[in-house]
Amino acid sequence: MRDPKAPERSPATLDPEDRAELRRQAHRMLDDALDFLEGVPEGPVWRPMPPEIRASFDAPLPSGPSPLANVHEEFARSVLPHGTGNVHPRFFGWVHGGGNPAGMLGEMLAATLNSNLGGRDHAGVEVERQVVRWMRQVFGLPATASGIVVTGSSMANFMGVSVAKTSKLGTATRTAGLDVSNTKLVAYTSVRAHSCVARAMELSGLGSDALRLVPVDADHRMDIAALRTMMAHDRVEGRTPFLIVGTAGTVDVGAFDDIATLADIAEQERLWLHVDGAFGSLCALSPDLKHLVRGLDRADSIACDFHKWMQVPYDAGLLMVRDEQAHRAAFANEPAYLARATRGLAAGSPWFTDFGPELSRGFRALKVWFTMKVYGLDALGNVIAETCRVARDLRDRVLAEPELELMAPVASNIVCFRYRTNDSDRVNDEIVIALQESGLAVPSTTRIDGKLAIRAAIVNHRTRTSDVNLLIDGVLDHGRRLRNG
Ligand SMILES: *Cc1c(COP(=O)(O)O)cnc(C)c1O
Repeated sequence: MRDPKAPERSPATLDPEDRAELRRQAHRMLDDALDFLEGVPEGPVWRPMPPEIRASFDAPLPSGPSPLANVHEEFARSVLPHGTGNVHPRFFGWVHGGGNPAGMLGEMLAATLNSNLGGRDHAGVEVERQVVRWMRQVFGLPATASGIVVTGSSMANFMGVSVAKTSKLGTATRTAGLDVSNTKLVAYTSVRAHSCVARAMELSGLGSDALRLVPVDADHRMDIAALRTMMAHDRVEGRTPFLIVGTAGTVDVGAFDDIATLADIAEQERLWLHVDGAFGSLCALSPDLKHLVRGLDRADSIACDFHKWMQVPYDAGLLMVRDEQAHRAAFANEPAYLARATRGLAAGSPWFTDFGPELSRGFRALKVWFTMKVYGLDALGNVIAETCRVARDLRDRVLAEPELELMAPVASNIVCFRYRTNDSDRVNDEIVIALQESGLAVPSTTRIDGKLAIRAAIVNHRTRTSDVNLLIDGVLDHGRRLRNG
């Protein structure tokens, strides 16, 4: 029976008739989610998906309804046990953040409000602006700096390259493309740069051939002398250097380019300095690690991820640009249907759509805001310092085990090593897969000087030294078995 006091409902509405039942089910789902998180450390990090579960995703188009409780049950059976596993303290693969409860709840509240952060005058925009101002302070950028929350550093690096290009060529390039330039623009990054930097060159129309890959020194940092030589050579050949992309925290070994020296060179040569600081830029939060990002406050633009070392649930990244005018010049436009007003909901210019390629944007900033406020930046910096401490323990354990070999210096939170044996590439690859399938731990692999390495990135705030010791025990077990087998 309909409550006579309840408002008239649209016959097409998706809101429930039985609000009490929705409320009960919603609480059940939240309790289940919290139970799941509490139980994570006892379970496997990851498990292969049984074929019948995979097949269940082949169900026909759901033309008719199903009760929310049933769909949740299916989720609990098919989806929940088969995540990536990066919430687990023994997830060491790639660079994956662990998430956090405050951020998870913030994400739920963002979906509740269902705000569109493309622009207009509402509190969501103020939340994102505040996050940007806070990050400006974290990185030591001037009050002229702008920023925007994006999906991640792949997007932020692409946008950073686009802003650098428009700044070099002028806004005419937005209509005329690269025809406005009579010389070939070239950019520089190290051979250790993330592949999304090359993709940013592809997408911005400059082409990845115009990205010079500068060799690195023994510590995997960009070789400054080589950079100068390559740049001088390009100038002699009539090409125009316009951009240096430094890396704070390389993805394979966690090395830091000398940002301060890159800033000197960019200043002397009048180039744009973009820093891919996907995870490493956040060393600015830790008094013990701040020295690794010396000079970051001189960058023209910075890409950073909240979803890695800052533990915000996926996805959330950031682009910061030193000069707001340059940032807007690359993206701003105002068709009639997006006209700005000085009062009413269409006020609040500039809108976030003026700072990036997207119009409709989610309220990602809210989970970032919750995470920053609830824990405080000191505690988040301390998480980062602690993961580096655990990484040093892991390195020391590797050095203490004669069967293992350290493959690269440990500058921050990533340790690359291998089990010493004949046919080492195959055996180490097999060790990593066996560990993943056993559920004990999830490392990943990379290649150092052409050799396959087991790679452990300590990113999760839950990871302790006992977890990395279990990883090493597992590597030794599988290594001995595979060596003899
Ligand atoms: C992870 C990472 C990226 C890509 O960032 P996404 O957030 O995954 O898009 C770029 N550069 C570095 C150094 C990274 O670690």
